[in-house]
Amino acid sequence: MISVESALETILKEIRPLGLESVDVMTALGRTTGEDIRATRPNPPWDNSAMDGYALIDSDTKGASDDKPARLKVIYDLPAGQVPKGPVEKGQAVRIMTGAPVPEGATAVVMVEKTSSGEGFVIVRSEVKPGENIRKSGEDFKSGEVVVKKGSLVRPAEVSMLATVGAPFLLVYRRPRVAIVSTGDELCEINEAPSKGKILNSNGYALAALAAMCGAEPVQLGIARDTKESLREKLKAAMEADCIISSGGVSVGDYDFVKDVLKELGSEMIFWKVAMKPGKPLAFGVIGGKPAFGLPGNPISSMVAFEQFVRPALYKMAGRKDIFTSVFRARITKDLKIKPGRMNFIRAELASTDTGFSVTPLDGQGSGVISTMVRANSFIIVPQDSTGFKKDDIVKVQPFDPSILLKDAPGY
Ligand code: AMP
Ligand code: MG
Repeated sequence: MISVESALETILKEIRPLGLESVDVMTALGRTTGEDIRATRPNPPWDNSAMDGYALIDSDTKGASDDKPARLKVIYDLPAGQVPKGPVEKGQAVRIMTGAPVPEGATAVVMVEKTSSGEGFVIVRSEVKPGENIRKSGEDFKSGEVVVKKGSLVRPAEVSMLATVGAPFLLVYRRPRVAIVSTGDELCEINEAPSKGKILNSNGYALAALAAMCGAEPVQLGIARDTKESLREKLKAAMEADCIISSGGVSVGDYDFVKDVLKELGSEMIFWKVAMKPGKPLAFGVIGGKPAFGLPGNPISSMVAFEQFVRPALYKMAGRKDIFTSVFRARITKDLKIKPGRMNFIRAELASTDTGFSVTPLDGQGSGVISTMVRANSFIIVPQDSTGFKKDDIVKVQPFDPSILLKDAPGY
């Protein structure tokens, strides 16, 4: 048996980022940038007002108070989107709106709430500091500056930046296309009524859903039967994609032919018993230049193996820099006894509490118990040599879905 860490290391050595393509800014969301994006203009493009108010010369308000207000002549109105009609001179002010360019000569903007006005004049009741309420040209970024680095994940913040600098198209890494093949004579499709001895192909959907949640494009190739011919046909079709995933047929059963057929199609296939629970049998190799994962058949085993090995591989293919799931420390809410020897991934419920994170291991840890997976949001990671934990121990937890970021009540 090999450890989870060394299996992961061996796999990632074989994975390369895919090529680049040019896409529009919204298609880039969730992808990784393949080029530095530079600004061709500063932001803000010119000094502009941060408030609705009056642009003026700060020294004109020196010593201004309720008893001794400054009175300035308002020379024109300046809405956002228009250019100043002329400079501001001593004793003058311009009625300015948020975002409008600051007129020449003006050194500050007083907010409208601190003034009162009449026909052609404004009264200012307090001193205005130099630069007050002026957003300086280039204070966000300068012209020529790299505003989104190559290798960045495009989130809404990056979309905002790309739109700000006027980059409607950009280079991003391609989305991996992931072919998914389920294997087993016992499997039927989701819309069929299974006769005795048959079950529905849930792995084909679960793995496609996991791939989709990673930002990849799943290609569901359906069911291969437990014959070499049927497996050969499906796995050959799968080689059209960027990455191949099969489930089932990698154990030591009489009909477990996935290993043989992958070997037949591939250069070097590795077959492992990985010291993990669930998810022990695993095949990995590169066939036709494409990474191929032979995941175990038990539903939870295949999902756990996907989380540990396929997710980081897909992220690496998609050009991402941070490819591993963050591990949280949480206080375990009850004792957990484990037989040592394998790294255990215990389905659990991670919660954010007033005193930090807590985690509760769930009942029903069998590798086919999907209902526990449905109730869980994370795995407690039990190291290979550990015999488990005592209530209130701090343990490592790997969340597997983004719902951990959401709560049923605001947390202010
Ligand atoms: P295997 O490794 O092929 O012996 O499969 C192990 C267990 O996982 C068996 O109980 C299979 O019926 C089950 N299994 C295999 N493939 C699937 C699948 N696509 N969907 C649901 N269960 C499966
Ligand atoms: Mg099988």
